[in-house]
Amino acid sequence: MCIFCKIAAGEIPTNFLYESARVVAFKDLDPQAPAHILIIPRQHFENAAELAAADSATLSELFGAARELAATLGLDGYRITFNTGASAGQSVFHAHLHLLGGRPFAWPPG
Ligand code: AMP
Repeated sequence: MCIFCKIAAGEIPTNFLYESARVVAFKDLDPQAPAHILIIPRQHFENAAELAAADSATLSELFGAARELAATLGLDGYRITFNTGASAGQSVFHAHLHLLGGRPFAWPPG
């Protein structure tokens, strides 16, 4: 079982900032901004493309959870990102939406 599957299943004690039947969200272990939350499907999909192909309702819920969390945290601007594939910086191969906020962000991203 992958690390995010274990988190979603409750095998690794984790404080969920958002929780539903299909989705959980928790703080990133190595935050890249004052607010850095990972929003993931409970079910295992390797990346966002696999999730989009298989379950558009859950994909949509990830974005809804990001909107709710950003509002709860009072983020006036934020970035949401799916790194998809190792060349794009994906290091955990269980789909996850990064929600980052609390500082300015440059464009283009590195
Ligand atoms: P990515 O590089 O897009 O695949 O993002 C993976 C993210 O997962 C990184 O930002 C890591 O810091 C984070 N991460 C890895 N393991 C854990 C963990 N056990 N709990 C919370 N975040 C984690």
